[in-house]
Amino acid sequence: MPAKIAMKTPLVEMDGDEMTRILWKWIKEILIEPYVDLKTEYYDLGLPERDRTDDKVTEEAAYAAKKYGVAVKCATITPNAQRVEEYKLKQMWKSPNGTIRRILDGTVFRAPIIVKGITPYVPGWKKPIVLARHAYGDIYNSVEARVNAGESAYLVVCDKEGNELSRRQIKQFSGDGIVQGVHNLDDSVRSFARSCFNYALENKMPLWFGAKDTISKIYDHRFKDIFNELYESEYKERFESAGIYFMYTLIDDIVARIVRSEGGVLWACKNYDGDVMSDMVATAYGSLGMMSSVLVSPEGNYEYEAAHGTVTRHYYKYLNGEETSTNSVATIWAWTGALAKRGELDGIPGLVDFAKRLERAVIDTIESGQMTGDLIPQFRREGVAPEKLESRAFLRAVASRL
Ligand code: NAP
Ligand code: MG
Repeated sequence: MPAKIAMKTPLVEMDGDEMTRILWKWIKEILIEPYVDLKTEYYDLGLPERDRTDDKVTEEAAYAAKKYGVAVKCATITPNAQRVEEYKLKQMWKSPNGTIRRILDGTVFRAPIIVKGITPYVPGWKKPIVLARHAYGDIYNSVEARVNAGESAYLVVCDKEGNELSRRQIKQFSGDGIVQGVHNLDDSVRSFARSCFNYALENKMPLWFGAKDTISKIYDHRFKDIFNELYESEYKERFESAGIYFMYTLIDDIVARIVRSEGGVLWACKNYDGDVMSDMVATAYGSLGMMSSVLVSPEGNYEYEAAHGTVTRHYYKYLNGEETSTNSVATIWAWTGALAKRGELDGIPGLVDFAKRLERAVIDTIESGQMTGDLIPQFRREGVAPEKLESRAFLRAVASRL
């Protein structure tokens, strides 16, 4: 056995919950540790540990990602009322991804992992649609209240000293209702736009961005203006010489154009649009299990993860002692993305090469017909009969090709 690949800087490893926590361990044991002398700084973001530490561990993990520059994260539970009960939580802790995004202030890029034999539900899509989700603000950092009939809600802006500068009535409630306050920051939108322009240039993809500026004449319009200003002042020439373009249009129009397109575009989305549309795009490309995701901060820090959740239904089967056929591809991509980036930053070509070989082995395994159950209904390839493998058998099949 040749010597394992050595690492210099540790990866920030953020463990998670349920079925993905199980896959996490197996991926490391079967696909990484036999080949790489893995160096990580480990943070357990599993829900019991977040509860025990009053969620401090999530913040510490995010600051470690800032310090070291590259993190790999397992899917985690975002608690709701039912989870508070199930895990006997001290309180309903916030979404770890929300906390990490708030600290790193980055942009999430999600790209489908394309293999031969799995045709997208939208037959025209030939190339990946990469979705960039603005990871700050809007409803994810909102303030909400219920309002009773007869009460009023206002939008009040104060100066530094707290003196009222403006007051506008949102609504005088004729019946019981709800109200919400959302915000965003010019700097955050600008760094979002900048990371999208940079990603488009690096990957030679046109960039599309849509918002609802006709209805939201100040809020969404600000997004549009910031993108346009930055494009004109810093990116236009570089885009033109790279043979790509930037297009802004209404979000509805973008959705229609995306469906008609053949893919091969970077689609920049506001936070909520990105949350929803990334699930649509991922599903249309085959499976949530085939969508990779990376958070890129304006300071150049990277956090790699799978786009899907903790696959709860499979976990309960696993707890019952049953085998599951859970797709580990997106979680493997989180590891390969992080290892390759670490290798690139630390000048370890062997690590970059290992990551590429591991991805190749995964793709070859699926293209040869061995895959998890979620992919079977969509797999169509001349002369290849798909075979459904259990979670660990799939990892072993990949290992045998490494
Ligand atoms: P989910 O875990 O993504 O699973 C939804 C369904 O999609 C699964 O039940 C499964 O369908 C299918 N699926 C997703 N990933 C799969 C995979 N790798 N292999 C095979 N099938 C897969 O979403 P959820 O059920 O809405 O959420 C579960 C938990 O995850 C929640 O507590 C939520 O807070 C958390 N979550 C975390 C993240 C994150 O950390 N990034 C993201 C989303 C959700 P079948 O059951 O039909 O097989
Ligand atoms: Mg979503």
